[in-house]
Amino acid sequence: MSEEIKHLLKLQKLDRVLDKINARFQEIPRLIKEEENHAEQFEEEIKQLQEEFKDLQMQIKEAEINIKSTKDFISSHKEKLNTLKNNESYKKMQDEISQKDEEINDAEIVILELLESSDQITEKIKEAKSRLAAKKTEIKETREKFQQEIKQLEKNKKEVEERIAPITEAIDRKTVDLYYKIKERKTPVMVKVKNSTSGGCHASIRPQTINEILKEDNIIKCENCSRFLYIEDKGNAL
Ligand SMILES: [Zn+2]
Repeated sequence: MSEEIKHLLKLQKLDRVLDKINARFQEIPRLIKEEENHAEQFEEEIKQLQEEFKDLQMQIKEAEINIKSTKDFISSHKEKLNTLKNNESYKKMQDEISQKDEEINDAEIVILELLESSDQITEKIKEAKSRLAAKKTEIKETREKFQQEIKQLEKNKKEVEERIAPITEAIDRKTVDLYYKIKERKTPVMVKVKNSTSGGCHASIRPQTINEILKEDNIIKCENCSRFLYIEDKGNAL
């Protein structure tokens, strides 16, 4: 195996590490955003519950106003009741009054139900708020953890880049450029020839090409996938 191929293989190995670091750099903000979206969902949930609570309070108030006016109606009619001489009118008004009494009873039951619902919502709001608070703490911790990780990643990245620099310097500039051009489209760039096939695309490699690779004069590309071919083990190349 030529020195250049050895360098390229080292470069490929380090590039893989670098790619992983860069992928993690891109992943971290996305993960933070996901956490923040959860918090936003909790906030939205609280807002909806608060709306529901407000609506219930309005219904209760309305029912209370109705009860009050019904009560006023009853007391004014009770006063009138005593002034009525006619039996029939007396009976009619008494019926009216007892009907209104029933209305009050019904309305009071409705209010009790509404109060129960609003207690339940208050409880739900409390739970949602505590979930939100826990999520916010979690986000804070996640951010701190990621900040530590980013620092470490930056350090690792610098180290890898420092190791890559002398390797690319040792390889012909044109070859390095070509390597990166291929890498943009296909990885890995360096592929093994085994059993007369390209490790990148599995196309057959002609014996003549295999001989050229073994001569170690220059870099040979796969005619099908354009990747750089190398032979690790002469025994199983053909
Ligand atoms: Zn190929």
